[in-house]
Amino acid sequence: MRDGQLRLPGFHPLLVIGPYVICVVAPLGAAVLGETRSRGFYQELSMDLAVAGLAMLFMQFALSGRFKFLSGNIGIDTLMRFHQLAARMVLGLLIAHPLLLVAPALWGHPAVAARMLSTMFTARVLRSGTTAWLLLVLLVPIAIYRDKLPISYEAWRSSHGLGGIAAAGFGLHHALSVGASRAYPPFVGSLLALSAFAIFSVLFVYGLKPLWQLRRHYRVVSNRKVAERMWEIVLEPRNGASIAFTSGQFAWLKFGRSPFHVSDHPFSICTTPNSRPRIAFLIKEAGDFTRRIGTIAVGTCAFVDGPFGTLTLKGRSPKGVVLIAGGVGFSPILGILRQLRAERFKGSVCLIYGNRVRTQVLFQDEIEAMKQELDLSVHLLLSEPPADWSGNVGELTAETLARCLDFSDLAERLYLVSGPPAMVKGVEKALRARGIPRRNIIAEHFKFA
Ligand SMILES: Cc1cc2nc3c(=O)[nH]c(=O)nc-3n(C[C@H](O)[C@H](O)[C@H](O)COP(=O)(O)OP(=O)(O)OC[C@H]3O[C@@H](n4cnc5c(N)ncnc54)[C@H](O)[C@@H]3O)c2cc1C
Repeated sequence: MRDGQLRLPGFHPLLVIGPYVICVVAPLGAAVLGETRSRGFYQELSMDLAVAGLAMLFMQFALSGRFKFLSGNIGIDTLMRFHQLAARMVLGLLIAHPLLLVAPALWGHPAVAARMLSTMFTARVLRSGTTAWLLLVLLVPIAIYRDKLPISYEAWRSSHGLGGIAAAGFGLHHALSVGASRAYPPFVGSLLALSAFAIFSVLFVYGLKPLWQLRRHYRVVSNRKVAERMWEIVLEPRNGASIAFTSGQFAWLKFGRSPFHVSDHPFSICTTPNSRPRIAFLIKEAGDFTRRIGTIAVGTCAFVDGPFGTLTLKGRSPKGVVLIAGGVGFSPILGILRQLRAERFKGSVCLIYGNRVRTQVLFQDEIEAMKQELDLSVHLLLSEPPADWSGNVGELTAETLARCLDFSDLAERLYLVSGPPAMVKGVEKALRARGIPRRNIIAEHFKFA
């Protein structure tokens, strides 16, 4: 294993990408083998793109299925980014499907092409295909511009999931009712196998996992305000052990009587495995769910799905570590610091921690105390400092970072970065510009792009 490379439970990336490509190509291969290719070039291309698009649509469910064997080594955020990229490709492929069918008429006879399109979109026999097409044309742009629309995350997530299931179902019906290879068993078999995997992925997240969580639920043992708009919530399993995590990882949390609802949120664990069975999270009041975090009473039931994430030192043996956190992005970084202290890490540790105001700085006393046990240098940054502030001023930008990163072994150290996406992206860019290799930077974006 190369220094700096991670081994977490999960398939090697090639074992994820390979089967993904096979799953997408299999129905296409079956379609090519199963029919005499007698239509024109554009018609053949149209059918092939639609089959590939449908196969990718099925695979979207597996990508968002929170399977650890898929995300363990790649990282769930990378998987989600791929899910989003694949969605755009599916949309492109399926938009092209009817357009390519009329393409030969489009140039010479646009009016004929328009009539053909209108027939396609109104024909009874093509209704399932049209519905799937329209659903995707709605679902993908809504997902891309979700933040700008007046809908809650939960409402979007439910409608996105149900809309995706409906689009896949109608698409499957269309392919098996009018598709040119509908009578060819390998084609039908490959599409049905993909749809079964998609159904399993949905059942896994919304049925099997909650069932398992119900048996292994937690209770809130403490919930206290630790800084401005910031809460520390501590959970303990009701019976048995808590999840086996590595410092820096995150989990999806749900609170309430039942785990059978979609309102779970990802939060990073700020404690170390040593403090198990208790696990703690630092949660910032941000939106409709987290604004109510302070009202969660001790004794409330909690359900934990995890651990996930690759922001961890497991499997890595760096000589020096640089931890860079923005705001509540400090939560996993605190877990990693505590881990380094517990392991009596001998290397040099540099913490760069940015906040807007002083009252948001978390666990300052604990950080100070860590200096006794670790070779730790701390750079606190405030963008709105009080008059008596003697620390660094500004946001986590290339300039402010440059002032903190004043060591000679810059490129050899391991950088763990965590916080809001804009900050993390900026820091990653600044580090790369300083010549730090990509493999030495591990980042956690507190939002799935
Ligand atoms: C890997 C990861 C680790 C995180 N760790 C922490 C942490 O330790 N502490 C902390 O305070 N915050 C953390 N966050 C951010 C936290 O998940 C969101 O702030 C929280 O879910 C917002 O929910 P809300 O309903 O209060 O806000 P909203 O205003 O509803 O949402 C704000 C944004 O948060 C995201 N979001 C909302 N709900 C969900 C959800 N159910 N699943 C995924 N994303 C959602 C959406 O992008 C949304 O646009 C983390 C996020 C990620 C991706």
